Amino acid sequence: MLSAFWNFTCALMGVVKLRVAICGGGIGGLAHACALAKYSDITVNIYESAAKLSPFGAGIGMWPRAWNVLCALGMGEDMAKITSVSPTNSTVHSFSFRKSDQSNGFTFGNMFSRGPLLTFHRAQFQEVLAQHLPPSCRIHHSKRLKSYSQGRYGGPIRLSFEDGSQATCDVLVGADGIKSAVRSCLLREQAEFARYSGQPSDKQKILVCKDYVSWAGSIAYRALIPVERLKEDCDQGLLHMIVYPVSKGQVVNLALFHFQPELQGMPYPGPWSKEVDESELFNIARFERWEPTVKHWLKHIRKPTKWAIHTVVDLPTYISGRAVLIGDAAHSCSPHQGTGAGQAIEDAYFLAELLGDPRTTLNTLPQALKVYDKFRRPWTQEASAKAMANGRYFTLHHDGFDFSHADAAAVVQKLHELTDLMIDEWKWCWTTTVEESLKAALSQLQDA
Ligand SMILES: Cc1cc2nc3c(=O)[nH]c(=O)nc-3n(C[C@H](O)[C@H](O)[C@H](O)COP(=O)(O)OP(=O)(O)OC[C@H]3O[C@@H](n4cnc5c(N)ncnc54)[C@H](O)[C@@H]3O)c2cc1C
Repeated sequence: MLSAFWNFTCALMGVVKLRVAICGGGIGGLAHACALAKYSDITVNIYESAAKLSPFGAGIGMWPRAWNVLCALGMGEDMAKITSVSPTNSTVHSFSFRKSDQSNGFTFGNMFSRGPLLTFHRAQFQEVLAQHLPPSCRIHHSKRLKSYSQGRYGGPIRLSFEDGSQATCDVLVGADGIKSAVRSCLLREQAEFARYSGQPSDKQKILVCKDYVSWAGSIAYRALIPVERLKEDCDQGLLHMIVYPVSKGQVVNLALFHFQPELQGMPYPGPWSKEVDESELFNIARFERWEPTVKHWLKHIRKPTKWAIHTVVDLPTYISGRAVLIGDAAHSCSPHQGTGAGQAIEDAYFLAELLGDPRTTLNTLPQALKVYDKFRRPWTQEASAKAMANGRYFTLHHDGFDFSHADAAAVVQKLHELTDLMIDEWKWCWTTTVEESLKAALSQLQDA
């Protein structure tokens, strides 16, 4: 009520420069609202389809690049309270790469990063984001966007929800995840615009590739295992596969990926995520050959969640008129580098800084969105490609090399090569900053 009153008062006083509607109250949407908080001339409404904020999944990791954004948004202290790892700028050992599909498993590579992968329980992470929402931001629950419409030459955007209600805004931010309704509308709209402006080939390109969502050929089984359970009959402290602690080390987050390259790009039959019986997991590989620690972990898995990993591949644009995509709606990537949410947070911050800049007004808005698209689209699409590459390396797909039948020395040499490749694909997470590209982007904003 207070926020509605605030929005109304601002509008009356003529101090509102932009009315932003965020579709989706996941990590990207919440982060965007938090990032806009410092701009008192921007009002924010979040429209979320769920009846309450309900994060899916288990653990989540943040690399230094995204962590620095959270700190810039003033959340560092609160987030540090719920992470299992101490934030630092020093060089740390962040991952061991281990060959575990044999009884005498061994570490073949170690990855060091400047600053650690900070790990969180996803619900706690999202809770901190929600706590940092400004009081002026209003969340409308149970509002599933059906479609939006806007004039070809500007004017407000009209939002239509599945419950029959409507709303208007100056900027629509599509933060509605991989099955984004905003994205569907935006691509349809782009195709129409192309048709009107006599660019049928562009229209065709956009329409032909309309379904940019593709199955990565990979299934992730994810589970949280209380550490106490792991200690019961095993005293080995070394954690491997994709395993990391969350909830201050009380619980271990385990993700087991089953990658079938031949299925990449095929339609996935069945729901994309569901809880399954642990017996399904044991059918995918002959784990009896694996090293004991892995078998021990698997023994403690109860009711894992099965995720068919889908990605959004190379959208031709993230913007259309006054609508813009962030996060998974724009570039959902495979989770192999733990960067999807981090990229959503980066988008959220980047866009907020462009919208909040005094040079961005209703008149210059299209230009500011173009700058966003120009900088964020190539960056996020390259990051997605890197995550896909690592997914292949993690499952020992490289150069057609046959790891099962090659001699031991050749295997070790190939594993060392893989280590270098994996680190090379990953190091952008701690060797680059968002600020670098944001500075360049801001310099391209023009006065009205
Ligand atoms: C197995 C797995 C492991 C992962 N691990 C990591 C990790 O360690 N680190 C990391 O950074 N990332 C990780 N990710 C990726 C990360 O989960 C996503 O990139 C991130 O959640 C994207 O945030 P988002 O806000 O863009 O979308 P989402 O989190 O999907 O949020 C979208 C929101 O929009 C709402 N919504 C949907 N449709 C509508 C509609 N029509 N109208 C209104 N609201 C709507 C949804 O209810 C939801 O609240 C992982 C992903 C998977 C699958």
